[in-house]
This record gives sequence, C-alpha cells and structure tokens, in this order.
Amino acid sequence: MTDKINCDAHGESEKTYVCTHLLGESTGLGFNRSDPTEDNPFPDAWCDNCELIRGASGGWNEESEKLASISLLCSGCYERARIRNERPTVTFADLANLRWKCSNCDEWHTGPCLDHGYSKPHYWREEYATSSDPGTFLTGDYCAIRGEDFFVRGIIHLPIIGTGESFRWGVWGSLSRENFEKLRTMSEDEAAEVPPMFSWLSTKLPDYPDTLNLKMYAHPQLHNERPHFRLEETDHPLAHEYHHGITPERVRELMCKLLPKVDFGN
Ligand SMILES: [Zn+2]
Ligand SMILES: [Zn+2]
Ligand SMILES: [Zn+2]
Repeated sequence: MTDKINCDAHGESEKTYVCTHLLGESTGLGFNRSDPTEDNPFPDAWCDNCELIRGASGGWNEESEKLASISLLCSGCYERARIRNERPTVTFADLANLRWKCSNCDEWHTGPCLDHGYSKPHYWREEYATSSDPGTFLTGDYCAIRGEDFFVRGIIHLPIIGTGESFRWGVWGSLSRENFEKLRTMSEDEAAEVPPMFSWLSTKLPDYPDTLNLKMYAHPQLHNERPHFRLEETDHPLAHEYHHGITPERVRELMCKLLPKVDFGN
C-alpha cells in the first residue's frame, strides 16, 4: 500500500518519511527506525535529537511530530540518508590514527586510505606492450586489444556509512568501440549530455567472489575526471556494498588486505 513518488535522481520510487534533519547532505546524525520488514522495507526514520524529543514526549504525538517536521523522501534518497547518518560501532574518526605504508611513494601516511586502483584491465598481457598493432595499446585511462576489445579506467564509489565519504576502487570496464571512441574524443560539454554507457567490469578485485563481468554503466564526468561506474543492483557483495554502503570497519579491513603495512597507532 506504499505510494510511488518521482525523484529526479532515482526515478519512480517508494514514498518514505524521515525527520527534516535527515534531508540534504547531513551526516552522522543517527538513523532511528523500527526494523524493516518485507511489507515495510522503509520504516519512518528520525535522527538522534528527534529520538531524545520522542523519548521526552512519551512517543510520537502532535507535539513531537511538529518538532521533527516529518518529511517525504524517495526510497533511493532514504537509503542514501541511512548510509550517511547511521552510526557504526567503529566510526570514520576512529580511522584517523591509522598509519600505513604507501605502495606508490613508499612513505608512511596517516588516516584512512580511500583509493585503490589498477593500472591495466584483467585481459591485458605483458607481451602486448611490444605489439606493433596500432589497435593494441594501454594508457593511464584507455586500453584497446587487437582493435576488438576496448576498456576505460573509471571509479566505483562505495559510500562509507556515517559519512559523506566513499572508498574508491579504480577499475577497468569494457566499452563498445563506438562508446570508446566517443569517450576519448568528446568535449567537456558533451560529457554532461551523453547517456551512461554499458560496461562489463574487467578488473578482478581481491576479497570478493569473482568480480569479472559484473554489469555496470560508465557515467562520463566533467573536468576530464574518470567516469564513475554504477553497478547493477544484484546480490553480489560488491554490488551490495555499492548500493548499501560499507562500514568504517570494513574500510580498515580492506586497508589491511590491500596495503603492505598498516599500523593501528596504539
Ligand atoms: Zn531529526
Ligand atoms: Zn531519490
Ligand atoms: Zn604515497
């Protein structure tokens, strides 16, 4: 019996209700609700301050609801609000003391490491580097093999729960020849106009079941930024993390797996 709402970002979605404080780009305010069920996957939600008011007023009534000023939100925006505002046990601030040895510059850095990238697609072989075929090449952003297979380097953002930050996988995705050419030659203004491009994930990421050939779309970005990849929503753990976020604890776990050395500070 949920009604639909039309959202600019998410299209036709379910109607949900949250306190006014959870709207916009708020982060870390808490996300209180009853447990989601199959019938009600998006129960009304409110911030920690509103939870205090609700407690003091003996529950939701005319007065406490007025203070919370319950507002309508699409279910896609609701999920973003949950990711930004839920309070995980290990917080993002807890990662500030981590020290880690960087594999790029060999120096020690402090704080969370939020980027991990790959310099070539899975299908690239060392012998291609000496190929005289003009249809076979690899740059920092583009790769073609025998004029038949085309790839672009882009970013998969995994939103970090309780923050507006994300962990970024720098990965490769396949493109059709036509889209590959379009992306390489288009102007700054065109990037805003072109529709998302179909792509198969062409990087094997560690610590997941096979990530090759997950379905996604490359979204061209302005200012010559690398395209962002949007993963199709499936039950693959990477797709789940893309759509529902990862905890700061998971960021720490990934850092320990990906970096040569991580020091917990104390
Ligand atoms: Zn509130
Ligand atoms: Zn929305
Ligand atoms: Zn470095």
